[in-house]
Amino acid sequence: MVDKKSLEKKYSIGVDLGGTNIVNTVVNYQGKIVSRLKVPTLAERGKESTIKRIVETIHENIVQSTIASGDIIGIGIGAPGPLDVKKGIINFAPNLPGWRDVPLRKILEDEFNMKIVLENDANAAAWGERCFGAGQGVNNLVCFTLGTGIGGGIIINGKIYHGNNYGAAELGHMTVNKDGPRCNCGNYGCLESYSSATGIKNRIKNRIKEGIKSEFLDFDEDKLFESLRLKSIFEVARKGDRLTKDIVEEAISYLGIAIANIANILNPEMVVLVGGITNEGNKLLIPLRKEVKKRALYSNYKSLKIVIGKLAGNAGVLGAAALLWISTNCSC
Ligand SMILES: [Zn+2]
Repeated sequence: MVDKKSLEKKYSIGVDLGGTNIVNTVVNYQGKIVSRLKVPTLAERGKESTIKRIVETIHENIVQSTIASGDIIGIGIGAPGPLDVKKGIINFAPNLPGWRDVPLRKILEDEFNMKIVLENDANAAAWGERCFGAGQGVNNLVCFTLGTGIGGGIIINGKIYHGNNYGAAELGHMTVNKDGPRCNCGNYGCLESYSSATGIKNRIKNRIKEGIKSEFLDFDEDKLFESLRLKSIFEVARKGDRLTKDIVEEAISYLGIAIANIANILNPEMVVLVGGITNEGNKLLIPLRKEVKKRALYSNYKSLKIVIGKLAGNAGVLGAAALLWISTNCSC
C-alpha cells in the first residue's frame, strides 16, 4: 500500500482526447494544474497521426512541467466512447475517423512505462467535478456535459457507474419526445436534438427554412453554424425574438424533463451541469429548477441540488488525472 503522505507529493497526467483538440495537463494531488498543453487533434489525418500527437504532447508537457518522471504516478485518458474501460480499448469514436478497437492503453503503457487508465470523457468530467469541483464529498451525483452533443456521467456510492458493457449514462440519448427530430444515433426525439448546441442550431435552421425571421440576429444562413453563438441566441431569445425564443425555452424545458427523470430513477444528491450553455448561469438554472420541480416527485426534487460545475473547461482533464488516485488512499 502506498502511503498518503508520499502520494501528496506526486503528480498525475490527465488527457482529454476530443475530435477537435487534445488537452493535456500535469496535475498535483489537490487537483492543481501545474502545466497545460492544448493541440489540435487533426483527426482527419488518421488514427496513427493522432496517436503520435497524443504521445508527443504528453512528452512535451512533462518537459514543460519540470516535474521528474519518477514523481508522476500515471496517465488518465478521457476519450469519446464507446470504449472498454477494463481492456483499455476504444471501440469506436464518431469524431475520430478510422478508430476501431484501438488498444490505446497498451500503446501508451509501452511508450511511457506508467500506469494508464482509460475512461469515457463524460465520465471523466463527472469524476473531475466530484473530486475537485462542485461535487466534492458527494457520493451520488449525475453530471450532464452540455456541448456540441450531450454526454453524462453517473456516480453511485462514490464510484463511476459503467453499466453492463460500459454503455451507461448516455443521457443525451434519453427520449424526451416520441415525435421529435431524428438524432445522430438513429432514434427520434433524443434530449441531444433539443438541448445541445448543435440541436439548438439545427432547430433554428429549420425555422428559418419555414420562413420565420429573426428580429435581432443578423447572420448569413449558409454560415449559420460558424457565425451563430449560443450566447447571442440566448440573449436575443430573452429580448423576445420570434425565431429563437421558443427553441431556447424548449431546450431548457427538455433538459428539465431529463433531470426530473433522473431524479425519479436515481434520486441523486446532486446534478452537475458542465459545458458552454452553463455560461448562462441563473438564467438557465432558475427556469430549469422550475421545470424539474413541476415534474419530479417532490421529495426527490427537494433533496436535489442542481448546480453548475466549478471547473469550467477543465473538468474532463482533471477527472482523467484523478482516475489515477482511485485505487490509492486518495481522499476523493
Ligand atoms: Zn440520440
